[in-house]
Order: sequence, then structure tokens, then C-alpha cells
Amino acid sequence: MGFVDSVTYGFACKCGATESIKLVEYGSSYGSRWSDPKPMKNFEVKWARGFVPSIQSATCKKCGGTPTIT
Ligand SMILES: [Zn+2]
Repeated sequence: MGFVDSVTYGFACKCGATESIKLVEYGSSYGSRWSDPKPMKNFEVKWARGFVPSIQSATCKKCGGTPTIT
């Protein structure tokens, strides 16, 4: 198992809540897989399973707003 790739998503809500999450891809001679996204403290995130995990929707837990994703 080796470290192959990573992607970081940042979330910023208009109410001031911010958080970021880093996903890591592990590879082996049999293929690779992405680590499961951990639950976030400030945002409720639905992940889309694809070649690279992407965000289907995200909601701020504090105000219910939709954060800007960077
Ligand atoms: Zn908010």
C-alpha cells in the first residue's frame, strides 16, 4: 500500500463557518481506492462516488446554508 494522490476540499459558509477535508488515495498493484470521507464538524456532505470522490451536496450545520466549495 502506498500513498498515490490526495485531494483537499475547502468549505466556506456565509455565516462564517469554514472547514476543509483531505481525501487520500491509496494504491497497490491491484488498484487503488480512496479513503472514506470522514464526517465533518460544520458541514453535512453527500459524496458522489466516482473516479475521484466529489461533492454532491453540502449543507452548513449551523445555518442550513450552502457553502462555497474551493
Ligand atoms: Zn452557515
